Amino acid sequence: MSNETEQPSSSEQPRDVEVACPTCDRQTSVSVSDRRAELRVRPYVAAFGEYTTARCPDGHRFWIYYCHSSH
Ligand SMILES: [Zn+2]
Repeated sequence: MSNETEQPSSSEQPRDVEVACPTCDRQTSVSVSDRRAELRVRPYVAAFGEYTTARCPDGHRFWIYYCHSSH
């Protein structure tokens, strides 16, 4: 089991990004699974799109939306 296959660079690796909490402006690290999406921070949940939830060090909950800009 020493032969490793080459892995194509995947676009599905999660990445950590720093965003500012919309309530208290603290930098918070969130893990997002979509590398190409533009991130929008919202202090509330909306009924569209893909998103992930985050919590800042002060305990505020907010939502990160993935926006795909169309070419
Ligand atoms: Zn906060």
